[in-house]
Amino acid sequence: MFDIKLGDEEGRVRALERLDILDTQEETAFELVATLVRQVLKVPMSGVSLIDRRRHWFKARRGIDAQEFDRELSFCSRTIDQSGALLISDARADPLYASHPFVVDDPNVVSYAGFPLTTPDGYNIGSLCAIGTEPHAFTSEEVEILSNFAKILMDTIELRQIASADGLTGAMTRRAWITEAKSELRRAARYNHPVSLAIMDIDKFKLVNDTWGHPAGDVVIAGLADLTMDLIRDSDLFGRLGGEEFALLMPETSADQATAMADRLRSHFETKVFDIKKAGPISCTVSIGVAHARSEDDTIDQMMERADQALYRAKTGGRNRVSLSTDG
Ligand code: GH3
Ligand code: MG
Ligand code: MG
Repeated sequence: MFDIKLGDEEGRVRALERLDILDTQEETAFELVATLVRQVLKVPMSGVSLIDRRRHWFKARRGIDAQEFDRELSFCSRTIDQSGALLISDARADPLYASHPFVVDDPNVVSYAGFPLTTPDGYNIGSLCAIGTEPHAFTSEEVEILSNFAKILMDTIELRQIASADGLTGAMTRRAWITEAKSELRRAARYNHPVSLAIMDIDKFKLVNDTWGHPAGDVVIAGLADLTMDLIRDSDLFGRLGGEEFALLMPETSADQATAMADRLRSHFETKVFDIKKAGPISCTVSIGVAHARSEDDTIDQMMERADQALYRAKTGGRNRVSLSTDG
């Protein structure tokens, strides 16, 4: 098992943000677990809560009206301050909770059981909770049910993240891209088909952030992704490796074709003007490194390494250019 990191609020909030789950739509797995908790523990209310910096937000809830409220009011916010379940058998008799507005008033919470949702790196991002309007001493069996459902939810959140696209750009996440790129390389090797890789990195991007602010930088990043997604084929794999760096794996594409494609992206991006509030019109350039799979046992790591070296040459050669790896 992992260590639970309590007390590192910054790290915790970042871990939650990385999961791209706050303020998302209803999803079946979460809805089903909320229903099951209510049925199995025989309580009128249940929820899957995520604790943001200042608010409690429900990914799923049963028998509860509010989708979110102030973190100060949240029982689940207390659950995540510990490593096991938070159990309250009668809030009215508990000096910590007796005068809490949710106890005194609607929805008249009397009993509460919450189990933390813990990420693989040990951050409690939220809680799975069961809430009753009658006193109830939760049994160890009931706590175990909550704990097992909490584990299932965390697996679901992990899987969901692997599958999901990057929030800002709609490109694949790095993890998803690498998984897909590996399987595409295996397929290309099996049939002895060509495959090429381009890695792109926006030029002097720090200057954009420093001059016009981070949100303006985000607009530029999303703009490069939009333009790329417009120009590529359906079979191409486009992922955001991080920051302002993207990767494009092009099946059935020779080194020459990949270089030509990369140069099209480069020249389109160069002419694109971003009209940013306060900043006015700004434009940027991008440098691109291209590598080609040279044998059937070429790995994605080796190709990325060669494309990175080519990208480095494009940068040192003056930027706003495409460079093809000389090693393939
Ligand atoms: P170079 O031409 O050599 O690439 O110079 P550069 O300034 O672009 O250098 P680098 O690629 O190292 O800069 C990346 C910057 O991108 C640093 C980081 O602050 C910023 N960044 C990373 N992620 C994001 C993001 O999601 N949004 C914004 N706006 N900026 C980001
Ligand atoms: Mg970079
Ligand atoms: Mg850059």
